[in-house]
Amino acid sequence: MSTTPQRVAVVTGAARGIGAATAERLAADGHAVAVLDLDTASGAETVRRIAENGGRALAVGADVSDERQVESAVARIAEELGPPAVLVNNAGVLRDNLLFRMTVADWDTVSNVHLRGAFLMTRAVQKHMVDAGHGRVVTLSSSSALGNRGQANYAAAKAGLQGFTKTLAIELGRFGITANAVAPGFIATEMTAATAARMGITFEEFQERCAADIPVRRVGTPDDVAEAVSFLAGERSGFVSGQVLYVAGGPLC
Ligand code: NAD
Repeated sequence: MSTTPQRVAVVTGAARGIGAATAERLAADGHAVAVLDLDTASGAETVRRIAENGGRALAVGADVSDERQVESAVARIAEELGPPAVLVNNAGVLRDNLLFRMTVADWDTVSNVHLRGAFLMTRAVQKHMVDAGHGRVVTLSSSSALGNRGQANYAAAKAGLQGFTKTLAIELGRFGITANAVAPGFIATEMTAATAARMGITFEEFQERCAADIPVRRVGTPDDVAEAVSFLAGERSGFVSGQVLYVAGGPLC
């Protein structure tokens, strides 16, 4: 029997969507997984599915933009599951609006969850990774980082996360830690369903319209993204760092 301790992965925003699929995939890859989310009831459902498939997981309630909650969540994870070796910064929100209608609250909420959240989470876990001489940080950017109408706040945050990722790669590489970003295009989740509702069209119609502009002629699934995260979180990707992997069914212009 192997004596290697099970590596611990922390996935933020793992109660549903891309985060839940990623948590389940990392558990299937052999990690013990901390399912961190604001929504603890749905987080417990992700944990239940992982356990049903023979995995080990812990639901942790926390707001990634709150320093105190992040520090205590990471301390609890280290205590109950073990020191984090993988961090997936996935928690996210949208507050879309054209610039002239965008409020300061819309701007701050998006900036706080994505940028402040990824900063606080990464700062809290990196000390465990440095001690272990190994770590993987994967951060969810977006094709919107290249610019998207109605998303000045979100595009700025997702582009900011690319700069954050490259800087982590430079600072932490010497400790055996890699940092990469995954930038999805259109993925069918509650986030994109809510966008369809705001546009006043059905989710099916929205997906069909978007698929027509995607070279592979379909929208993405949470599992498409989980597959990319799994590679970047794994042992074998140790020489890939500071990269942005677009998972968008084609190149973006
Ligand atoms: P989703 O809305 O389905 O899920 C997001 C999860 O994050 C929810 O469970 C929510 O409770 C959690 N969350 C939100 N704020 C939080 C906070 N402050 N602290 C802790 N948890 C919080 O979204 P999704 O579509 O699965 O997107 C996941 C990530 O992928 C996000 O970062 C999003 O920006 C990014 N992304 C999504 C798409 C897409 O098309 N769906 C495309 C590109 C990038």
